[in-house]
Amino acid sequence: MAIGELAGKAQTVLGLIEGDSLGITLPHEHLLLDGRTIFTEPSGASEKGLARQPVDWGNLSWLRYHPYENLDNVCLLDEQEAIEEAMLFKKGGGSTIVDLTVVGIGRDPRALARISRTTGLNVVMGAGYYVRSSLGSEISAKTEEEICQEIVRDIAVGVGDTGVRAGIIGEIGCSWPLHDDERKVIRAAAHAQQRTGASINMHPGRNREAPFEIIEILGEAGADLNRVVISHIDARIRDHSERSRLARMGCCLEYDLWGWEGHFPCYWTADDFLDLPNDTQRIYEILQLAEEGDLNQILISHDICAKSKRVRYGGWGYCHISNYVVPMMHKRGVAPEVIDTLMVENPRRLLCFV
Ligand SMILES: [Zn+2]
Repeated sequence: MAIGELAGKAQTVLGLIEGDSLGITLPHEHLLLDGRTIFTEPSGASEKGLARQPVDWGNLSWLRYHPYENLDNVCLLDEQEAIEEAMLFKKGGGSTIVDLTVVGIGRDPRALARISRTTGLNVVMGAGYYVRSSLGSEISAKTEEEICQEIVRDIAVGVGDTGVRAGIIGEIGCSWPLHDDERKVIRAAAHAQQRTGASINMHPGRNREAPFEIIEILGEAGADLNRVVISHIDARIRDHSERSRLARMGCCLEYDLWGWEGHFPCYWTADDFLDLPNDTQRIYEILQLAEEGDLNQILISHDICAKSKRVRYGGWGYCHISNYVVPMMHKRGVAPEVIDTLMVENPRRLLCFV
């Protein structure tokens, strides 16, 4: 397909659609994910045992504090389970899910197409690479231009021989400190954006400086920062003036951990300023940004990336924002047009190629 055909349209795993057909959109989720590549081995013997237990009622409490330290919990490998969980979002009025599972964490284009056909939901697939630790050594041998061409091919032709095309670049995985190969992928993503008109979603490393470093590299590489989304703002930038500073740089701020109100494991990062707000705080933070004119740069989603975040395991699932956050917003006086901007207009603008 010629790149020129993309302009003004969104690309789902089943083909091009008009932006108006996207409707209520979750811009950062994972329907399928193989997180074994990013699993962190606990050091103590008893926790090594817990790390290998299947998820069940006996370990759900431990998983609240250690969501990514259990091999089974970080594996979303069951297509039927993904369909059933995604249907809860559809029943709540949703119509589009952006699946940002990229290379390194088990991207599965054909399965995403089947999930889209079965559920009737639009599914948009990501392109690019997750954090360096999820990848083999081949990434080090690739040039910036080769990585850029791969991303462009995923968008214009499709992944491998599947014919399933990506509709967004990312989430591009970054660590803290940033690995040289990650820097190379960031630059490749910027060039692929210039060639395709796609938007880019970035996963910053666990440090409050990480988003700023990423924006600087993208800017130097010529990215359109108005079409760059910084993920996990709710667990990266806990200071309003810093969020404003980031918004001034032109990028979008994504609150994508709605429903996760618990404990942010302190052993994950040396940055003592990282923490998690609860959903009410998220609403007030967004209202403050909106009052200062940044509403058009905010996205909201759940980033469901572990079993314990799904409904069948006692979590909140893809339907949490529609079923629980929107009524909470109404109660706190958030205007319907504001909610529409967050859930429909902003994702549509970013998913339509330019
Ligand atoms: Zn994610």
